[in-house]
Amino acid sequence: MSAVTGRVLVLGGTGEARRLATVLAGEGVDVLSSLAGRVADPLLPPGEVRVGGFGGAAGLTAWLQAHPVRAVVDATHPFAATMTASAAAAAELTGVPLLRLQRPGWTAEPGDDWRWVESLEEAAAAVAGFGSVFLTTGRKSLGAFAGLSARCLVRSVDPPEPPLPARTEVVLARGPFTVEEEVALMREHGIEAVVTKDSGGAMTAAKLTAARTLGLPVVVVRRPPAPAGVRVVATVEEAVDWARAQAG
Ligand code: NAP
Repeated sequence: MSAVTGRVLVLGGTGEARRLATVLAGEGVDVLSSLAGRVADPLLPPGEVRVGGFGGAAGLTAWLQAHPVRAVVDATHPFAATMTASAAAAAELTGVPLLRLQRPGWTAEPGDDWRWVESLEEAAAAVAGFGSVFLTTGRKSLGAFAGLSARCLVRSVDPPEPPLPARTEVVLARGPFTVEEEVALMREHGIEAVVTKDSGGAMTAAKLTAARTLGLPVVVVRRPPAPAGVRVVATVEEAVDWARAQAG
């Protein structure tokens, strides 16, 4: 077992995680970023990067015992609920301080027609009556929509894998996209409804403005709850302050 260091482990896969690692590395903090390995050609943060799962809560617990770190920042996506639960459990078992960095969710504005649902399955049911649907929930979540007979537009960085809706059209692209680009895409495909997770943040918000502009309904999947007992901050700046204090 190596000696305890000032190393900070950032569980990543988000823009916030990259920004956090960038600031910490710039301040000379020893930062290790962890990525799930989902994207073939990921945007890499500065500093050391490890790729791949830990093997559940037990695996992360063992990893933290074998590779001691001073603190962990869980900066994974708001819907990465399994990783977030593993981090909470492993932090409790090992006593390693844990912070959850999670950007705020989105809020509807005047002119929005948002329909909140609790799950991807409910989202699929909510758009079953539409002829052409833009699915923006991520390529790993398309199985929930596999029973749809509507034309489904899917945009992702890497090609999605089956099961997919029968009439799926895939556009390969990496955001961010402008409102104009989103409006043009939705018009081109005759989109009648948009499905999104409540991911929050500016990076993918243009689709919401585009839907408002076009008067389209948006089915919004509510976030999973944060684990109890874990401190949550909303901004990279707050996470930097916390990690700086932990790293000493
Ligand atoms: P998830 O369901 O919570 O994670 C599934 C498994 O992937 C975890 O149990 C863990 O495997 C591994 N994993 C996830 N994040 C990891 C990380 N940062 N480092 C090492 N292993 C990780 O999460 P997901 O929804 O598949 O998301 C995977 C990654 O994509 C996350 O890093 C997340 O930030 C990013 N992402 C997710 C979404 C989304 O909508 N869910 C959107 C954009 C980006 P083990 O159990 O083996 O440790």
